[in-house]
Amino acid sequence: MLFDSPSPVDQRAARAICSACPVLVACQGWVGRMDENEDPGGVCGGWTEFQRVRARRRQAQLKQPPEVTTVAKQCRLCRHLKQPDQFYRNADSPDGLRNECRNCYGERRTGKKATA
Ligand SMILES: [Zn+2]
Repeated sequence: MLFDSPSPVDQRAARAICSACPVLVACQGWVGRMDENEDPGGVCGGWTEFQRVRARRRQAQLKQPPEVTTVAKQCRLCRHLKQPDQFYRNADSPDGLRNECRNCYGERRTGKKATA
């Protein structure tokens, strides 16, 4: 089948059909919103499956919090210097991490002393 073919020639032909399709934009929106595991595969919405995978990866990267610093960070509550992996992520924070360490954050949430 043309749309499911791994051959670049067939894929080009399938995308040519897509590009003339009256519902192309709707089709792109539909398939573009799908998760990778829902993707029908093959050429859809004028894109090959590979192009859609790449586009999703790019989108996922844009949604990632900013690059996490590798230097130790001081916890706002216990004042200990800790490695970044001891902090939960916070996309709104300038360094991508919460200001309190995991221990302190856990303590504050549960209201009891964390063991560590
Ligand atoms: Zn702390």
